[in-house]
Amino acid sequence: MAEILVENLTKRYGSVVAVNQVNLSIKDKEFFTLLGPSGAGKTTVLRLIAGLEKPDEGEIFFDGENVTNLLPNERKVKMVFQDFALWPHMQVYDRDRYSNLNFGLRIRKWLTEDIEQKVSEVAQKVGIKKELFSRRPGELSQGEKQRVAIGRSITTTPRVFLMDDPMTNLDPQSKLKVRKEIRKLHQDLETTTIYVTHNLPDAMAMSDRIAVMREGVFEQINTPKNIYRFPKNDFVRDFFESAKVSFDF
Ligand code: ADP
Ligand code: MG
Repeated sequence: MAEILVENLTKRYGSVVAVNQVNLSIKDKEFFTLLGPSGAGKTTVLRLIAGLEKPDEGEIFFDGENVTNLLPNERKVKMVFQDFALWPHMQVYDRDRYSNLNFGLRIRKWLTEDIEQKVSEVAQKVGIKKELFSRRPGELSQGEKQRVAIGRSITTTPRVFLMDDPMTNLDPQSKLKVRKEIRKLHQDLETTTIYVTHNLPDAMAMSDRIAVMREGVFEQINTPKNIYRFPKNDFVRDFFESAKVSFDF
């Protein structure tokens, strides 16, 4: 539903060039990952695509439409943040009040019955049990919070799905499961997804293609297999070696 084109995108914060003239072409329905160390500019690229930041230079296109000057809600993009950004004072779901899972739909003035149906469908898809509905985010585990954050972001089908390191706080065991779930969700939704992480095995396990990012630029863009087999330069090679994992290609 959305092919994303980024042309010469630049974002500066004072003297810091967070994103330096990057170009990207992401295919419709692709699972595309921005991978790189902390401070590389990954979150900034995501926020620029979401419309949460304005670029200093460059343009962004969705399906050929120039969205550079559109507001976030006009872009029909959903973003799952690193800290999940759930409403702390609201329940996971409450049929009769604003809650984390129905907030967006109530604002859109959906009928309560339609919301009920949608929420139960989404809850099932991302694995949120009904017992959790009456809890507030403070009463959820990291994994549960993550499910709610993802669930909330898919109650309406986004044009583009953006995820900023949503697995950072998960234990290794849950991680393996969640990787599969995110990948499965992507297949079900058929929505172009940009995923941000500093974790190489996560990127390798989930992505169709990866952009390895450092200091505001992309060092290499290719499939996991091709980057692993043919790292383009020392930085990419070192990044893989320091992760101390091998892959079965
Ligand atoms: P990453 O997500 O890869 O860790 P970021 O996109 O968050 O990297 O940051 C890229 C660079 O931009 C870093 O040097 C960071 O300190 C800087 N930066 C990000 N956001 C801001 C901001 N709001 N104000 C000033 N500097 C920022
Ligand atoms: Mg970040």
